[in-house]
Amino acid sequence: MRTVHAYAAPSATEPLVPTTIERRDVGPKDVLIAIRYAGICHSDIHTVRGDWGPITYPQVVGHEIVGEVVEVGPAVSKHAVGDRVGVGCMVDSCRECDNCRAGMENYCLNGSTDTYAAVDRDGTITQGGYSTHVVVDEDFVLRLPDAVDYAAAAPLLCAGITTYSPLAHWKAGPGTRVAVVGMGGLGHMAVKIAAAMGAEVTVLSRTLAKKDDGLAFGAQDYYATDDDATFEALADRFDLLVNTVSAPLDVDRYLRLLRLDGTMINVGAPPEPMPVTMFTLFGNRRSFAGSTIGSIAETQEMLDFCAEHGIAPETELIAADQINDAYERVLSGDVRYRFVIDTTTL
Ligand code: NAP
Ligand code: ZN
Ligand code: ZN
Repeated sequence: MRTVHAYAAPSATEPLVPTTIERRDVGPKDVLIAIRYAGICHSDIHTVRGDWGPITYPQVVGHEIVGEVVEVGPAVSKHAVGDRVGVGCMVDSCRECDNCRAGMENYCLNGSTDTYAAVDRDGTITQGGYSTHVVVDEDFVLRLPDAVDYAAAAPLLCAGITTYSPLAHWKAGPGTRVAVVGMGGLGHMAVKIAAAMGAEVTVLSRTLAKKDDGLAFGAQDYYATDDDATFEALADRFDLLVNTVSAPLDVDRYLRLLRLDGTMINVGAPPEPMPVTMFTLFGNRRSFAGSTIGSIAETQEMLDFCAEHGIAPETELIAADQINDAYERVLSGDVRYRFVIDTTTL
């Protein structure tokens, strides 16, 4: 065991505080990573505030992790000391169920082990990336391509893969019209990735405040959802609609923007149910779908895709003592477009 510095939530209502946590000894197939940067995902906030149900405190969150390998177990073959690597939302899965065997650990039928707030193999609760070191099974560690900017890479491990996976699965590309709803951490990555895939991209944001950014990220069009005229102008238009909003939406209103055989994919994860009217689905034979992160192989594919296309998240680097302010800024929509913690300040 080793004791490492971290930032933890003491309860659902108190600010995060500096602390120390224990990391397990490096096992035969484990990699010890000195974490250099950790992104702040809205899911971190949902989790520590208990939005998705009660958790055990104190809890360290963070599942957008990049760093350097500093030690490897004797059976490790995929990573070496000195490699730049990443860890995303999972650190393990059962490896035996149909979905794991099909290479889709993110849909593990026995529940993949989340990077934080999950019960690990040894019975302890997993603790996330707002810390200086983490020990992870090599199969759940990703290679960071040299061409990906180290300081900006962390958000790819959740925001990047969560948007890449559905865009790839539902075949965004030349000739497809993609709408991205909400342009925060996930949304801005969806715009960049869909544009790089060759799709025609439209941003649907609450206001036009971030329009210049959206167009610079590769969108052709940008509309305000605060304006009712948007929903009339864009009716029956899109093949794919990727909803990244962290709060409940009027789903029917967005479904009506889909053309024949169009699909609305929800990646935003508000705790409240979102009702759907069957007749809205009947029209244009529409689909309403969900998607969660991506497999390990797909995450590596996404990292390589981003390296090849020069895609990097837009980040604001913060010190550990700014984490609580950053949370408030994410909640108020004041994020351009992902906060990343410089873990040397922990
Ligand atoms: P974020 O940076 O806060 O972005 C969310 C965006 O949604 C905001 O920038 C804002 O965009 C829009 N928004 C926020 N509140 C809204 C409201 N009340 N009404 C309408 N629009 C609103 O969050 P994120 O980190 O991208 O995460 C987004 C959601 O995805 C969270 O619920 C998170 O838990 C979830 N998530 C899911 C997965 C998965 O695997 N499915 C993975 C990661 C995250 P505009 O200002 O442009 O309107
Ligand atoms: Zn996340
Ligand atoms: Zn499984």
